[in-house]
Amino acid sequence: MSTVNPLVKCSVDQCTHWMPGNQCMAAKIAIYNDEHGGASRSSAETQCKSFHAGKGVGDYVGALHNANVGGTVKAAFVEGTQITPSVECYVDNCQYWEKGNYCHASAIEVKGPYAAKTVDTDCETFKPR
Ligand code: SF4
Ligand code: SF4
Repeated sequence: MSTVNPLVKCSVDQCTHWMPGNQCMAAKIAIYNDEHGGASRSSAETQCKSFHAGKGVGDYVGALHNANVGGTVKAAFVEGTQITPSVECYVDNCQYWEKGNYCHASAIEVKGPYAAKTVDTDCETFKPR
């Protein structure tokens, strides 16, 4: 795991990895450009590739039941009280991007109101170089 890793705040409550408190319970997430091989110019052109459409708000207990909770918690790490996944990012024209597909922002915000597909999600923290 990288020594640099942002705290992930996510408001995509349609995702099975989402937990109350805008936490992401995935062990690892991957941020991509929407277009394969494309260079994003705005956060709307980025996506959380790890988004997995769930059954909706309030069903997180079911999602947790089906997850390998022990493995998830072991793989994730805790900053303060917030559980956060490790982040792999392929948006190499972002100011926060680092060789090795790391993100050196202290925190990132993932958004995607009414997201149904991965392209409906965005890394709001994206800043073009
Ligand atoms: S959309 Fe991405 S960051 Fe948000 S909960 Fe799902 S996997 Fe985690
Ligand atoms: S802030 Fe930039 S480098 Fe970090 S995950 Fe978002 S797009 Fe990638």
